[in-house]
Amino acid sequence: MAPFRLSKSRLLSGLQCPKRLYLEIHRPELAEQSKSAERLFSNGHLVGDIARRAYPKGRLIGHTIDLRAALAQTAEELKGEGSMTLFEPAFQHGGALVRADIFSRKGPRHHVVEVKSSTAVKDYYLNDVAIQYWVIGGAGVPLDSISIAHVDTSFAYEGDSDYRGLLKRVDVTGEIEECIAEVPDWIRQFRKMLAGRMPKIEIGRQCSKPFDCPFIAHCSQGQPEYPVELLPRGGKVVEQLRAAGYRDLRKVPGSMLETGKHKLIWRVTKSGKAEVDARVRKLMRELPYPRFYLDFETIQFAVPIWRGTQPYEKLPFQWSCHIEREGAELTHREFIDVSGGPPMRAFAESLIKNLGERGPIIVYSHFERTAIKSLIARFPDLDRPLNKLIGRLRDLLNITENSYYHRDMKGSWSLKAVLPTVAPDLDYASVGEVQDGGDAQGAFIEIIDPATSGERKQKLTNDLKEYCKLDTLAMVRLARFLAGK
Ligand code: SF4
Repeated sequence: MAPFRLSKSRLLSGLQCPKRLYLEIHRPELAEQSKSAERLFSNGHLVGDIARRAYPKGRLIGHTIDLRAALAQTAEELKGEGSMTLFEPAFQHGGALVRADIFSRKGPRHHVVEVKSSTAVKDYYLNDVAIQYWVIGGAGVPLDSISIAHVDTSFAYEGDSDYRGLLKRVDVTGEIEECIAEVPDWIRQFRKMLAGRMPKIEIGRQCSKPFDCPFIAHCSQGQPEYPVELLPRGGKVVEQLRAAGYRDLRKVPGSMLETGKHKLIWRVTKSGKAEVDARVRKLMRELPYPRFYLDFETIQFAVPIWRGTQPYEKLPFQWSCHIEREGAELTHREFIDVSGGPPMRAFAESLIKNLGERGPIIVYSHFERTAIKSLIARFPDLDRPLNKLIGRLRDLLNITENSYYHRDMKGSWSLKAVLPTVAPDLDYASVGEVQDGGDAQGAFIEIIDPATSGERKQKLTNDLKEYCKLDTLAMVRLARFLAGK
């Protein structure tokens, strides 16, 4: 069998987990790409486009699929005289192939910029650029320096498509020496591994670090129903349990667990009996009426589109609120702005208008507090009424975490994990395409895209409304459950 030519992304997969690389090459059909990976990919594209704008004379080497053609075109371009900038040029050396985001030649000097949509230089990027440095140098184009360009969160968009300053360039040439020396070994080892049997590697921390592995469903087959990995922030404890041969949480001796939360999860998982702290009933019953159950949806743009906003700033565009009055029917109010214009001002004003003057505002995270504080910073004239709302917030997540656990929650207190255990008749699967916060962001982006049809926009808007409404109804049902009603 011919030796495998490894792309940079394949080498990085191998560094995460050799089994991942093996599956990518030999069983790619088993991969299940997560929606978050797709979103990351699309952010990468947007940021990449902005990075290229700084090089108006840059030429794109196409041929995304036909790598031989990409290599030939790159070689042809490099024969030219003088300074140049190439986007996506291809280089190969020693059994590896890379495509550089931005390659430039100025006189005798060569430089590469690797563009990332993240907000900082992460440790594992150094492997990424070391591979490029080694391959490009080996291909006869020695690099003088290599940089990582990442999103600078302090950038504030002032409009008119002016994104100068969005990206921050960090020269990492001096930091990759050790990694560069390892690249030939990585290639050798991976090629040998790929020519043999699939490595026996069990699931572990590597499955989500630095990226979610697309083979997790495949590798999780045969795992116990309640694996030790479900312990939240398990880290070292999970490692110790696995090293001691434990896979099923129910079989672990309680003495190996330390925190109260881990012991609670273990106890309930073993017994199968949910636990509710007796004190929570009184606490919930004493909450005064009217009660407002509130939830926000927000959008984050790697490349901001509204004047005065920053990269990855969480900008609210939708809220849902169920209002519970003593002895009265539950009522519902909502707000959504999918016009494509900045929704923040109307969002803030509608909150003030609809949430009344008194009564607890029950939320399910710390996030709503943070979001309202950001609105205050943005609209100082709304300071007083928004601060009043903050004073009324009660975090139901915090209350639930400290008072309730059912083994079907599998180590999570997210509303989606809790809901089936307290209100099995409510189901997120019934609310259409939007089933989590990531979907909500995806739907929002699709709705404001001028290319989306009116019919599609309407459907997604309805799905968003149903989703957010279900979140606040779920909170009502959970609050009633905890109150013993
Ligand atoms: S799921 Fe985990 S063990 Fe399986 S291939 Fe991916 S990283 Fe490796």
